[in-house]
Amino acid sequence: MKINLDDMIWFDTQNCFIDGSWQKPKSDNYISLINPSDGQEICKIARSMKDDVDLSVASAKNALSGEWGNYTALDRSRMLQKIRNVVKEKIDVLAKLESFDVGKPLAQSKADANALERYLEFYSGAADKIHGDTIPYQSGYTVYSLREPHGVTAHIIPWNYPMQIIGRSVVAALTMGNAVVLKPSEDACLTALAFADICREAGLPKGALNVLSGLGHEAGQMLSEHPDVNHISFTGSVSVGSQIQKSAAKNIVPVTLELGGKSPQIVFSDANIDEAVPFLLKAGLQNAGQTCSASSRILIQNSIYSKVEEVLIKAYKKLSVGPAIEDFDVGPLISDKQVKTVERYLKFGSDLKKLAEAKINPDSCSKGSFVAPTLFGDVDPQHILAQEEIFGPIQVLIPFSDEEEAVKIANGTKYGLVTGLWTKDGSRQMRMAKSIKAGQIFINNYGAGGGVELPFGGVGHSGFGREKGIEALNSFSILKTVAVNHG
Ligand code: NAP
Ligand code: MG
Repeated sequence: MKINLDDMIWFDTQNCFIDGSWQKPKSDNYISLINPSDGQEICKIARSMKDDVDLSVASAKNALSGEWGNYTALDRSRMLQKIRNVVKEKIDVLAKLESFDVGKPLAQSKADANALERYLEFYSGAADKIHGDTIPYQSGYTVYSLREPHGVTAHIIPWNYPMQIIGRSVVAALTMGNAVVLKPSEDACLTALAFADICREAGLPKGALNVLSGLGHEAGQMLSEHPDVNHISFTGSVSVGSQIQKSAAKNIVPVTLELGGKSPQIVFSDANIDEAVPFLLKAGLQNAGQTCSASSRILIQNSIYSKVEEVLIKAYKKLSVGPAIEDFDVGPLISDKQVKTVERYLKFGSDLKKLAEAKINPDSCSKGSFVAPTLFGDVDPQHILAQEEIFGPIQVLIPFSDEEEAVKIANGTKYGLVTGLWTKDGSRQMRMAKSIKAGQIFINNYGAGGGVELPFGGVGHSGFGREKGIEALNSFSILKTVAVNHG
């Protein structure tokens, strides 16, 4: 399908959004943005460097003592509503941009654009309803607490869900009155740049949001080390997250780390298998498995193992794979680099029982970054494919005998992001929800990334801190206590 992208990109991709306007990167250096469905260049983007980072942070700092800093909570609520209205008008184009940039099948990109709008709806509603408390204290005192913004917040986000992550972190930070500098991934930043222009169109005061495209180890690192940044929200890999934490430690600033996962879904013999199967598949293969909360491990109780295995094999054989904009079940991976990583894992799986491999259309997929969705069975929980985050369309089935063993396997990786339980036994649901180590537990459903209202974040190597829901507003604010001695 031939689509003219120039008609869709209404903003200048080669510029940085600094201090309320589009500015040429001081380095005059640019990076190619690639469409992973066909390997073609979409456009060039700015390669921001130190000068651009310094200008952005300075602009955000000034905004806090300027028009944006003087906004009341109600003003912020109304501004987020205005931004929401512009996002709403542009849902279809945002979805298409995301499909070209990330390689995400169109219906999934549309779901992300809708999620961004829903975040704006949720947080605009919350902006003027967050408040401190009065605290009983000694006689003659009145004590109260205030929720205040951190100041300048840096947001470093990956390529896999730009719109959703902007919704849960950037929008939440703006809700509490912070001034934001956003560094999207070099591999996918069109919707982040589009969001900047949407905010400009809606009239967001200058400096409240700055967006810099660029390379992680350049603009990303400079931003995370900047002494005038007061909070860092990082979503990405464990290794970069660990570096970000070191930068935050140096400047003594709080950090939220949303990292990877090896999230299991656990299917007990009393589960409704027909209801479970679509969740088992979708949560593993959505965005070609490049989801932090992808359900890459499926634990199945011995007595129903063969039955579930058979249904999943059939489902895998029916999967369609192809270019994102044509909305197949599964699209490409983000890049050839990511394909190589996944292929390395597939080699590690050569000793495993391969149950199914979806077919890739050789004509429509010849130039893109495609990997066939692959299902492995009877996998040992200690196998590398059952332990490490692959970030591709690969799922492993692991049999288990009883509840105790299921908990041991589920908790047996370094991660702890999301877990799905499929069982009708209410007591077991409660017991397991307590003993599983994860930031979110879904019982008889699974929401990989879903649920704007639901606090989200990990334990262990999946990171710490919570975004989404009202909880994010606590993360993006500081509690100040005021004790008044009035006698
Ligand atoms: P990544 O390499 O860690 O990159 C994430 C972001 O950090 C990108 O913007 C990247 O910029 C930037 N970056 C890279 N090196 C940096 C450095 N030295 N200093 C500062 N910033 C730097 O991760 P990824 O490969 O893009 O994303 C996949 C990972 O993200 C997976 O592990 C996945 O599980 C995790 N993830 C987690 C969540 C969650 O909510 N828990 C959500 C989505 C993804 P460039 O891309 O421009 O290099
Ligand atoms: Mg791209």
